[in-house]
Amino acid sequence: MYKDETLNLLKTYFGYENFKKGQGEAIDSIINGKDSFVVMPTGAGKSLCYQIPALVLDGITLVISPLISLMKDQVDGLNSLGIGATYINSTLSKSEVEERVLDISKDKYKLVYLAPEGLDNINYLFRNIDIKIPLIAVDEAHCVSKWGHDFRPSYRNVNSFISTINPRPTILACTATATDVVQKDVISLLDLHDPNMFFTGFDRPNLNFKVFRGENKETFILNYLSNKKDESGIIYTSTRKETEQLYNLLNKNGYKTGMYHAGLAENIRREMQDNFMYENLNLMVATNAFGMGIDKSNVRFVIHYAIPKNLEAYYQEAGRAGRDGEPSECVLLFNNKDIQTQKYFIDTSPMDENKKFQDYNNLRTMVDYSYTQKCLRQFILEYFGEKDIADSCNNCSSCTNEIELKDITTEAQMIFSCVYRAGERYGVNIIMDVLKGSQNQKVLRFGLDKLSTYGLMKKYDRKFLDEVINKLIADGYLLMTSEQYPLLKLTSKSKLALKNKESISIQIVKLEKSVEKDDTLFDLLRALRKSISVELSIPPYVVFADFTLKELSTKLPLNEAEFGEIKGVGKSKLEKYGDRFLNLIKEYVEENEIVRDDTTLSSQITSNTVIIKDKAKSHHESYNLYKEGLNLNDIATTRNLSSVTIQKHIMDCFLEGMDVDLDDFIPKDSEGYILEAINKVGAEKLKPIKDELSPDIDYMAIKAVILKHKMA
Ligand code: ADP
Ligand code: MG
Repeated sequence: MYKDETLNLLKTYFGYENFKKGQGEAIDSIINGKDSFVVMPTGAGKSLCYQIPALVLDGITLVISPLISLMKDQVDGLNSLGIGATYINSTLSKSEVEERVLDISKDKYKLVYLAPEGLDNINYLFRNIDIKIPLIAVDEAHCVSKWGHDFRPSYRNVNSFISTINPRPTILACTATATDVVQKDVISLLDLHDPNMFFTGFDRPNLNFKVFRGENKETFILNYLSNKKDESGIIYTSTRKETEQLYNLLNKNGYKTGMYHAGLAENIRREMQDNFMYENLNLMVATNAFGMGIDKSNVRFVIHYAIPKNLEAYYQEAGRAGRDGEPSECVLLFNNKDIQTQKYFIDTSPMDENKKFQDYNNLRTMVDYSYTQKCLRQFILEYFGEKDIADSCNNCSSCTNEIELKDITTEAQMIFSCVYRAGERYGVNIIMDVLKGSQNQKVLRFGLDKLSTYGLMKKYDRKFLDEVINKLIADGYLLMTSEQYPLLKLTSKSKLALKNKESISIQIVKLEKSVEKDDTLFDLLRALRKSISVELSIPPYVVFADFTLKELSTKLPLNEAEFGEIKGVGKSKLEKYGDRFLNLIKEYVEENEIVRDDTTLSSQITSNTVIIKDKAKSHHESYNLYKEGLNLNDIATTRNLSSVTIQKHIMDCFLEGMDVDLDDFIPKDSEGYILEAINKVGAEKLKPIKDELSPDIDYMAIKAVILKHKMA
């Protein structure tokens, strides 16, 4: 009965046309005053399940949320949608709290976010004001359960807090946690009254899962990143030491990377997190301490540098990619020796033997996932107890052909034989020395040069040999012992393979090169989003989601009505940002003489804007003015276009062979300075050069110097 009204709110405030699976029903249930339990995966849109009811219900909806550091972003997000919201937590001063309580009493807000630690105080703060509380939403509700992965003792206060409110509000619990025990715990500890349950299944169709075994991880990551352009990603390591090493490596290689682990001071962690959320940094290297409640919707990839403790943790962490529903990647780098790290964590934890046993089993499943030949999505969903899952998803490394198998039977036999003849008493380096026929002191001292396998693989590249051995370890043909100086041993698997003359193959990874596409407008829109984000101190994804920018860059709306039809543009954002984005798009369309294909626009829009321009003209028009002696800025003013556009026009003319003085683009006295930077980092890519220079040197200047000196 509420459907029409709620759909209207969805459109007006959030700019979305349809509910996602389960949302509409959950919202109805809550508005009807039924306790509800929403179990949906990350990115399914759980927040809307209480935000829309909050708009409908009379009074103020309280939201209990575990992470103080993220409340501001959540509230900013709502405010930017034109929804009155605020938060009260320990980061505020006494007078700020008082001011907010006063505003609450004046009905200024529909939602108030609270931290579970501060609930005792809330009754006291609210004692003198008269407010209605129709709904309490407990977000990340699994935190109440000891059996979950994020137990927070303060969540145990939630129920007693609820019981002090009269009349009892409707309670909504939200979580992405799959396990039965935790779900039962939530219902009982929060005392949900016969709740309506909303499950949507755990599949995240937009995530692409990949497992790579036995890769050289550092090389892999550098390779992988070279293919990603300014995209946000998280790399999870299993130890703080690994986090720091990788952080250093990436920064040294020119990737702006943050790091996060529990050993860093609170203020550093906060700063790193903010820089990631606000896109001053694209990459975050972190331990599992990073991420709960991170709502950054446009994380495009999550790489696991090593296996986590179990598949549930893996899915949680990997699932931080692609909350916005856009295609995103979840990569797991597996190496056999990382199992030892996880075993060590279990062994040294203070848990009882029963729990340790359980943890070992869970770790086993994680390892099985790393080895499985079957569809990775199917493996995960079956683990979470889903039924009737397709055998192939066409969206994971098992189902697509990015991994090739290479037959290495001969090489493997040589290696096994060498390990065997050396008595399984040496580590990887010595075995490689022997196979390569090295004169290394140790080899000679131990008489290993007398072995029949000495020099057997002389012809092979040491790097290749190293890779093959690593993959044989990863695939369980060789075992690396867990001593301080690990020894290489044969396993039953390799013994069997030797005996049966089995053929052995290893994975060779083909990372797809991303297709070069023209995303100039997308980049411009992203830059505008970033500057608005800085002006308003809100994260870029709060200004607009990636999908909104994408739609803008393909549908090219040219007036407010068209702009309002874009996914993610509600009335408040249309008012706040519409003009600036529209101007940018209009200018882009004009500059590039784009004739819009109006079939891409929604059929409801009758476009009254037709832009058909003579393709030959625009930049030549600028050129004529240039030849009349006007400087680039004057031309921009005369033509009412931006100076960047004019620069582009004149540069295009130069490239067409017309007479242009490149010095017009190069600021006085900076040619040598720019040349120096080019010599340092090479002329292939402009961005690294730009990063070397002071910000006032623009791309055109760099391009002009390259062309002038014929360096391209
Ligand atoms: P969850 O809490 O379940 O992980 P969020 O509530 O943070 O997910 O929502 C994830 C993303 O999906 C957000 O960017 C949100 O704006 C978007 N979203 C939510 N509902 C819809 C919808 N009906 N249509 C399109 N996008 C939606
Ligand atoms: Mg959420």
